[in-house]
Amino acid sequence: MSYLIANWKMNLPPEGIESYLANVTGTDPRDVTLVVAPPYPFLNQVVQASGICVAAQNCSDRPSGAFTGEVSPGMLRECGVDYVILGHSERRTLFHENDGLIARKLTLAIATGLKPVLCIGEDLRVRDAGEVARFLADQLRMAAVDTLVDADEVVIAYEPIWAIGTGRNASGAMVAETLVDIRSALERFWPASFAAAPILYGGSVTPDNVEDLVAHGTIDGFLVGGASLDARKFLAIHAAMR
Ligand code: PEP
Repeated sequence: MSYLIANWKMNLPPEGIESYLANVTGTDPRDVTLVVAPPYPFLNQVVQASGICVAAQNCSDRPSGAFTGEVSPGMLRECGVDYVILGHSERRTLFHENDGLIARKLTLAIATGLKPVLCIGEDLRVRDAGEVARFLADQLRMAAVDTLVDADEVVIAYEPIWAIGTGRNASGAMVAETLVDIRSALERFWPASFAAAPILYGGSVTPDNVEDLVAHGTIDGFLVGGASLDARKFLAIHAAMR
């Protein structure tokens, strides 16, 4: 199973949502699950588009109550949302989300029937210190070990922080090497199901660098920010996935 996920963040496609969705729904997805994650108010427009799955960019760790500004997983399900992005580095760094909070969101999202896209990734200090494998295993352990019964309850997105929105993507070789580390952590934590967990890459993916990433044959898809706002670039990335 492979995925291509557009994370619009707090942006909208310059060509307009209707035109963007018409472009994307007019494409044969082949065996790729196409997912679009718009800001909350535009979820319904994506829900109405056929052939595209919908992701929220965040959700609450509470089912309901006096939590101004929050949206619960149950509300998202009611609106027809399929996936939720959790643990994104922008949520971790700009909104101070820690592993405990991410674990609670993960638990509630799964219990409610949303499929979480769990983001993990190291900063440059960790990479330069040669501690990537340990760091990513720790992130997985802290967010998910007490929560998941099976690794295949989530989609994992490997998103090195230094590559997100910077125009500096990880090379295909580097991602392939890191995915071996992630798979070995999954095997340790969930021996029965580790092989079924899809692992995506995210971090400055564009039509220009996707071939190198795909060439290694180990990535199960992409989480794309900046380039996903342009339907032509998003579809060019899709076309490169085989
Ligand atoms: C992201 O936001 O998850 C992301 C990968 O962004 P970008 O593609 O812009 O680096």
